[in-house]
Amino acid sequence: MFSDFHGNSEVIHRLREMVAKDHLPQAVVLSGARGAGKYTLALMLARTLNCLNPTKTDGLPDFCGTCANCTRIAQACDLDARFAEAVEARENLRETDKKETRIFVQTHPDVLVIPPDPPQMMIKVDQIRRVIETIYYRPAEGKEKVYIFTDSAFMKEAANSLLKVLEEPPEFATIFLLTENSGELLPTIRSRSMTFTLEALAAEEIDKDLAKVHPEWKPAQRALVARLCDGAVGRARSFDLEAYTGARQHALTILNSALRGGEHGDLFKITESYRPGAEGRAKTEALIHTMYSLLRDLTFIDSGAPELIRNTDITTELKRMAESADFAWITAASDRLAEVERGMRRNLLRSLSLDAFAAGLEK
Ligand SMILES: [Zn+2]
Repeated sequence: MFSDFHGNSEVIHRLREMVAKDHLPQAVVLSGARGAGKYTLALMLARTLNCLNPTKTDGLPDFCGTCANCTRIAQACDLDARFAEAVEARENLRETDKKETRIFVQTHPDVLVIPPDPPQMMIKVDQIRRVIETIYYRPAEGKEKVYIFTDSAFMKEAANSLLKVLEEPPEFATIFLLTENSGELLPTIRSRSMTFTLEALAAEEIDKDLAKVHPEWKPAQRALVARLCDGAVGRARSFDLEAYTGARQHALTILNSALRGGEHGDLFKITESYRPGAEGRAKTEALIHTMYSLLRDLTFIDSGAPELIRNTDITTELKRMAESADFAWITAASDRLAEVERGMRRNLLRSLSLDAFAAGLEK
């Protein structure tokens, strides 16, 4: 229920008030960092709109969590697992069918979740076609049709088709558009939606939540995760500190190799371990994310604000690196990292672009 949603209480309050007055906009943009709770919130609202035993908490609409609609919609909560199942089901199809099949997550006939479609990880026009084919039929078992786009990476044609739906959506449908950066959405899509932003939470807030959710974590571990999760409670709760420190060790070697030059043996050993394919992509994304976080910490040290460092457990090493990493170098590194990211989207060989990244930054 809504009491499980940590933080951003004003936004939640406003949305629930709109549901109470039957004024929830038909297109809602939920903006916020990865793990801020956008998807969790969208599914909570989907259950509230369709609950068969509508309840109230704090005087505002909530969901029971136990009726047939609530339980079926809740099956979509583990998005990663449902997404992986859908992708696997497609893999098992005949070649010809595979090409025509798009990825969806649907655990209730009236609630359709539309994730970016692999391998490009973009929302494609065929996915919007499914929305158009179904949205104008009244809900079958619920009261409101709900469509949840989990990402704002739309192919151009897809964005344009979605725009047509948003021009005249049926009164019994609500579309949620989740985004880490609402600027990625077409201005015409944004102007037909209402945007709600889930703000980052303070580290102390996250620490409090972690003490409840992960009582088995040591206080130092909790404090570090609370700083590393960028204020996103979902990221904090599922934070894999071991995987993070592994990626960070690689990131440190790559950055140090660029800062110091010379011997490349260690660097090549690492970059070679970044292979193509889905697993390699996730690993590379984690590495890039970690590098950004290190570069940001170096910036904090250079600007005389070491108290803002997130990787607090390696402060000494970061300070040593900052001695040879000035603002110009950090800016160049961030720019080049953005290039590596763009290259990944075009499926360039990861190990090559990581080597080029380090070589290009050598002092
Ligand atoms: Zn219910």
